[in-house]
Amino acid sequence: MSSLYLHIPFCRSKCPYCDFYSQVADESQLDDYIDLLDAELQLQAGRRPATEPLETIFFGGGTPSLLSERQVAQLLNRANQQFGLARDCEISLEANPGTLTGDTLKEYRSAGINRISLGVQALDNTQLEQLGRGHTVEETRAAIAMIRQAGFDNLNLDLMFARPNLKTCDLESELTTLLSYGPEHVSLYGLSYEEGTEFFSRLQRGKLREADEALYREQYLLLHHKLTQAGFEHYEISNFARPDRRCRHNMSYWQRRTCLAAGCGAHSFEQRDWGIRRAVPADLDRYRRCLKNHRSPAETLETFTRQQAMAETVYLALRTADGLNYERFYQQFNQHPQQVFAAQIDRLAPHLLIHTDRWTFSIDSWLIYDHLISHFL
Ligand code: SF4
Repeated sequence: MSSLYLHIPFCRSKCPYCDFYSQVADESQLDDYIDLLDAELQLQAGRRPATEPLETIFFGGGTPSLLSERQVAQLLNRANQQFGLARDCEISLEANPGTLTGDTLKEYRSAGINRISLGVQALDNTQLEQLGRGHTVEETRAAIAMIRQAGFDNLNLDLMFARPNLKTCDLESELTTLLSYGPEHVSLYGLSYEEGTEFFSRLQRGKLREADEALYREQYLLLHHKLTQAGFEHYEISNFARPDRRCRHNMSYWQRRTCLAAGCGAHSFEQRDWGIRRAVPADLDRYRRCLKNHRSPAETLETFTRQQAMAETVYLALRTADGLNYERFYQQFNQHPQQVFAAQIDRLAPHLLIHTDRWTFSIDSWLIYDHLISHFL
């Protein structure tokens, strides 16, 4: 199985908490960028041996819903021509409320998009304003209605918790509203204050207060309980799905499967030898220069050793409800994980659920995942 990630590093405006690489762009810059992405796909295909058809494609950003149907179709046609698309290829596009129209959505569907991931983030206008999101609750509701009318039956809604001044009871009523929209998938993000962002400097100046550990935990557990009660599977630390609606693209990351990537700031993973991770530096001028000179803009970040590949296999699997399957690990590495990681398992014993065929983390362990996996690094 292989996947393709297409990065669109443009937004209408910059949200004050966001540390992703994105720029505010006009239409001519977008056209120019799509031609560069197209050229990068051709360059990549020319340098790689033939692969299996793509099983998933993900337009991420940034705000990919700034693209026109023509631009989306140009990239999908190129991906199909160069790599081939599996018959049931999952093709997702990230969108923000306020950037969509009914016509564009219908055209996206005709171009091949079959899954929309909508950046809802909050369902309270005061909170949305504080987050600088540039859309309202009414626009979110209208966007969801248009997405359904256009025929999309696979919809993810992103929701943020641990926001400034967010009471848990208010989050609960926002979640009730979100569930009334009937999504197939929900992704949760706890707000973090990243250096270099406007929110970070407001935090430093005492203008914002960070949710403490207890509040973060309370809100995460509330979301877990409410969503699982509503029939969602909590299948990864931050992701919930209706039966058979897991995001196949994201599963490929946690299972260390090949994911090609194109675009300025994009990261790829190739399942060759023990794994190679590459990234395109977040620098549009450099990106353009490389492609105009027919050079790949990607740089190698990490070439995995066998030991590193085994460690990453364990800690990525522990992000998911499936956990680490002993048999699958043995098939890949010809060693039992219990032998390779005996010392780590001793240290993780209070947090690790040991089943007959696999290890998993509990929901509580997911809350301190970064700390727990430091034993494998
Ligand atoms: S829309 Fe998303 S990617 Fe763009 S600035 Fe806001 S949070 Fe960042």
